[in-house]
Amino acid sequence: MRVRFAPSPTGILHVGNARTALFNWLYARHHGGKMVLRIEDTDLARSKKEFTEDILDGLRWLGLDWDEGPGMGGPFAPYFQSERFGIYAEEAEALLANRKAYRCYCTEEELEERKAFSVSHGLPPRYSGKCRRLPPGEEEILLAQGRKPSVRFIVPAEDVVFEDLLRGEVSFDTSLIGDFVILKSDGSPSYNFAAAVDDASMEISHIVRGEDHLPNTPRQILLYRAMGKKVPAFAHLPMILGADHAKLSKRHGSTAITRYREMGYLPEALVNYLALLGWAPPGGKEIVSLGEMVEKFQLEKLSHGGAVFDLSKLAWLNRQYLLRLSPERFVLACMPFLPAESREKPGLNEAIALVQESVSTLAEVSREIRFFLEETLCYPPNGVALFEEDPVAIEVLREYVLLLERGCTEVRALVKEKGHPKKQVFPPIRFALTASLHGPELTKVIDLLGLVRVKERCRRLLEILDRPASANPD
Ligand code: GLU
Ligand code: ZN
Repeated sequence: MRVRFAPSPTGILHVGNARTALFNWLYARHHGGKMVLRIEDTDLARSKKEFTEDILDGLRWLGLDWDEGPGMGGPFAPYFQSERFGIYAEEAEALLANRKAYRCYCTEEELEERKAFSVSHGLPPRYSGKCRRLPPGEEEILLAQGRKPSVRFIVPAEDVVFEDLLRGEVSFDTSLIGDFVILKSDGSPSYNFAAAVDDASMEISHIVRGEDHLPNTPRQILLYRAMGKKVPAFAHLPMILGADHAKLSKRHGSTAITRYREMGYLPEALVNYLALLGWAPPGGKEIVSLGEMVEKFQLEKLSHGGAVFDLSKLAWLNRQYLLRLSPERFVLACMPFLPAESREKPGLNEAIALVQESVSTLAEVSREIRFFLEETLCYPPNGVALFEEDPVAIEVLREYVLLLERGCTEVRALVKEKGHPKKQVFPPIRFALTASLHGPELTKVIDLLGLVRVKERCRRLLEILDRPASANPD
């Protein structure tokens, strides 16, 4: 088995093509096949090196490696289509010599004009085949006019029926397909031609790709036949949909893999999530490691319907993976997400450990431990309101300061000695220490901050609250 992932570097690695890469990879790894990475950069104007880098980095980050391709070489090198133009020209020459293709001298404008005519007359907008049989001597005249020909493939009047590994039998009416361009007038290949030539010459046995490529498949099958090559097996993956069941796009939020990396998703969680977009691991298990996926993966079991991209599911999954990290690994994973100047702060590891159970992404950590990272807190009005609504709150804070002055940080002592109910004692103190009404266990927060800081914060909040209203800027 030889599969390939063949991205065009005209864009970044996104949820859609990353899932295609993953399913190819799982299929190859499960069957002990080879994974080929081919960069389809025939569109020289739109292909960018940065996109290739983004795709390669993203695949590596997700843990999806390849046996042949960029950085790896391989028996069918080069793996960049831009370096294979000579091969496409040769194949096109062979098809021309066998009368399976011909040169077309029509200009862009002429083609557009005829297409508009067809459309306005309710005819299919396919190429008429005008240049298929040019009268003798005509080619010379057209060339003398300075026209640069493209090469068109002669679409034979034969059925194309194939067995899709996921959708079963698929058949196409080839009469709807006009003779299509395989080499453009500038010598660059069309997508269908380059893909078929490469898939054939790289001996790809199984083509797994998105359903959006289904209309290309009959063209590629016809090219395989014309070149005398064995037609590979095909599997077309259902599309990924947004929550509104429309095709997933930027409109549904970010789909860029690097964005998820920057937001603090773990690659293990993202790859696990991508697998669930179409695959249900046996036994209803949702948390599956890459190794386990390789073992259990069956392409034929992929769902036929579109898979809905659900960000809250991804966040849930990421949280499960974060929870499973050892405290040491969790701290390490958080480091790149923290401000550089705080990475050496004493107590940082303890602070991070306090929030491991309450975050869904690593980027949330710095927000959750802001009370620790910042020395002078900014108290939001919703918390200050607590003291206006509940006169006991300020009393509790005063009593707590007295307790602190005696060197005791025990909040429970207030509950015991003063008889205040717990729910009236904890919120004001938590707010004084963290500027928030929610957060990690209060006693742990107190231990982390230590007596001096705890005292400072309570006193400062008291000062702010004691200030006459007119002295408050707002
Ligand atoms: N370069 C194509 C794309 O990125 C790949 C098509 C294919 O897998 O055949 O959509
Ligand atoms: Zn023509």
